[in-house]
Amino acid sequence: MDSDAIVCPSCSRAHSPEERFCEACGMPLVHQTLVEQDAGERRRRARKIKPQYTEGELVQVAYAENQPEAEFIANLLLEEGIPCLLRNSIGGYSPVIGPREVLVPASGAQAAREALAFQRG
Ligand SMILES: [Zn+2]
Repeated sequence: MDSDAIVCPSCSRAHSPEERFCEACGMPLVHQTLVEQDAGERRRRARKIKPQYTEGELVQVAYAENQPEAEFIANLLLEEGIPCLLRNSIGGYSPVIGPREVLVPASGAQAAREALAFQRG
């Protein structure tokens, strides 16, 4: 069967995506919605970004010991509307274990440093 097929939740028979009901047992066929919800979450976050913070070269504003700390900082910056990029400080952008540099556009660097200074007291 092709990857778009819908599987009946009752009898596991595969159907083409345009089918509404199972031919064999009459069960209503439901499309998976998890992917759409995930995309909605990304769109919701993307709307928070302030355009004035997206200009200029990327500059480092913070350093994180590991990916969870880096993501904490990234979420903090996102709350302020500042987009950021997490870079493996050893080199490259691959999602591997290790320290991270937190980079933001130059126009958002001042706001980012203030947000992080406030957070850390
Ligand atoms: Zn069925």
